[in-house]
Amino acid sequence: MKEDLNPFKIAQQQLDNAAQIMDLDPAAHAILREPKRILIMSIPVKLSSGKTRVFTGFRVQYNDARGPAKGGIRFHPEETLDTVKALSAWMTWKCALANIPFGGGKGGIICDTKKMNERDLELLSRAYVRHLGRDMGPEVDIPAPDVYTTPQIMAWMLDEYNNIVRHNEFGAITGKPVEVWGSQGRMDSTAMGGIFVLREAAKMLKMDPKKATIAVQGFGNAGKYAYTLSKKIIGSKVVAISDSEGGVYDPDGLDLAKLEEAKEKTGSVQGYKSKNAKKVSNEELLELKVDILIPAAIENQITGENADRIKCKLLLELANGPVTPEATDILFKKGIIDLPDFLVNSGGVIGSYFEWVQNQTGDYWETDLFYAKLDKIISKSFHDTMDVQAAYAAKGKKINPRMAAYIIALDRVAKAMKAKGWY
Ligand code: NAD
Repeated sequence: MKEDLNPFKIAQQQLDNAAQIMDLDPAAHAILREPKRILIMSIPVKLSSGKTRVFTGFRVQYNDARGPAKGGIRFHPEETLDTVKALSAWMTWKCALANIPFGGGKGGIICDTKKMNERDLELLSRAYVRHLGRDMGPEVDIPAPDVYTTPQIMAWMLDEYNNIVRHNEFGAITGKPVEVWGSQGRMDSTAMGGIFVLREAAKMLKMDPKKATIAVQGFGNAGKYAYTLSKKIIGSKVVAISDSEGGVYDPDGLDLAKLEEAKEKTGSVQGYKSKNAKKVSNEELLELKVDILIPAAIENQITGENADRIKCKLLLELANGPVTPEATDILFKKGIIDLPDFLVNSGGVIGSYFEWVQNQTGDYWETDLFYAKLDKIISKSFHDTMDVQAAYAAKGKKINPRMAAYIIALDRVAKAMKAKGWY
């Protein structure tokens, strides 16, 4: 039977598996299978052309037992409520695993930003916030940028929210430009967190990261910084990278300036030229014989269909949902260490938490302090996950790292709900 790739069904399936392994209280399990609150908004916008268009927007506040809902807003032509629900569930587990005082949420608007001018984007962003109204805020629900939303969009949204509450509340949104108290370090915090995890995992595997070869799928915020930071911080050799058009592979390693030049001149990293460089498709890139594979683009890239052909030793899920449940099982059986998205890419929300803390206290940090704190939190999440995996192994139960991370997160959320008397 073909694998069901509906993201919310995948999220529920992962939750069900973890609940069974950890013997989660059935009442907690039932609460956590569905979002606490879903907002579906019909948003009319009088566009700069003079025409009025009605957009559909979503905000899902999945669980707020441990703190305000937290999660990005996506602007995407194929946005669906099920994608937003899945991402809001994963945000809940991500914040719980990092042990930061947030619940999980996510938002989205069905729209094609490539077909909109800047003025219309601003009008839509402001209208979305007016529709959310007091259902957001620094103690309620804190949005951030995500796919096709930017720090500029966050600044417009913040301004609109501040107009509603009639005062400045910078902690209502994160991922802002630094001019309106976004945080130093936030831009590359997702990839930086992933690199700290890579360093710890390499230590555990006794792999010399300086000698390791890496392939990265995606050349956006997550992928591009993962490329630059793995070279700069770890000294590894990135031999392949891709974008939506396809990828390039050079066994001698890739050069950033040339990659950027290729992207600018030809619209894709595939235009990269060097003595030994050759074009690869996105499918081929995933199957290259490298030490470390970093999917940093979109979901459902490694499935039951291709998992058996994956050859890396370590797989870092920097994108959200790049590996399906069927593929997770196959990779585990093959002995590939597949570290889950809500651990590997949690640097983004940890960075958002730091931004929120700075906004709420008015005490602003240097970048070095930001990175040091990020390193401490995400390295602990990695070791906590490995410790739970080892504890289960000692009891004769082999579980993969994703299940170990789920067990930590679900236990924390369930305990908070129990303490509050939700079950
Ligand atoms: P982005 O839009 O900046 O970049 C996406 C990249 O993926 C682009 O290079 C694009 O060309 C490429 N891409 C698109 N379709 C592709 C395909 N079919 N095959 C291969 N490549 C393709 O997005 P981003 O912010 O880098 O996010 C990438 C992933 O990381 C997403 O899953 C996102 O949810 C996740 N993530 C990002 C952050 C963050 O802070 N940016 C935080 C957590 C998780």
